[in-house]
Amino acid sequence: MTNQSAARRQRLLVVEDDQEIANVLRRYFSVQGFDVSVAGEGTSMRAILQAESIDVVLLDLGLPGEDGFALTRYLRETWKVAVIILTGRAESVDRIVGLELGADDYVTKPFDLRELLARVRSVLRRTAAAETPGSNSTGNLRFAGFTLNTGARTLTGPEGDEVPLTTGEYELLRVFLAHPDRVLSRDDLMSHLHGRDTGPYDRAIDVGVGRLRRKLEDDAAKPALIRAVRGAGYLFSARVERG
Ligand code: CA
Repeated sequence: MTNQSAARRQRLLVVEDDQEIANVLRRYFSVQGFDVSVAGEGTSMRAILQAESIDVVLLDLGLPGEDGFALTRYLRETWKVAVIILTGRAESVDRIVGLELGADDYVTKPFDLRELLARVRSVLRRTAAAETPGSNSTGNLRFAGFTLNTGARTLTGPEGDEVPLTTGEYELLRVFLAHPDRVLSRDDLMSHLHGRDTGPYDRAIDVGVGRLRRKLEDDAAKPALIRAVRGAGYLFSARVERG
């Protein structure tokens, strides 16, 4: 275990209209060393995000007013924050839609608090690893007219426009850029992304690839950059240059 006592406390925002669940989460994560804020709906969520530097949002899907899907989209478009969706609905369509919209992970109620804590820590580790200078070489990676700045974690398109990426999309793109012109299986991609913290989401890679394609490809329906190799996985087909 590393000594994290010197590090700043991680800030967690619970967006949940069920007071009882919100209180359980507040108490549990406070004891675990987090600074916890609670919002009951979207408007107060936005106010807290403006006022505090939040690291991770635990977002209930079923909220009064704007639902969790709309708020996930808003969070992705507006804030660099990890998002874990909480829902009472077990349907996988919710999970897929949530991941499509850019959530980093997904937990179904009733959840086990220790499992939720593990998910939160895993998401924060991934975010920190991607942001820590020196964990990977930083600089510019150029491919197909795009420039990925690995220090600032920004992607610039061929027209000079910034292309917003979620944490998950950024990390997946980094894996592809590190292994151009090589077939990577879904297992390869999962282990590069999560190490031993492989999640239970077999479709998460396909969802991530679909999202990246919509941002990178001229025609996402006929991908030329991230090509599917039948029965094997994906191949990133571009020359990658540093500098
Ligand atoms: Ca609810």
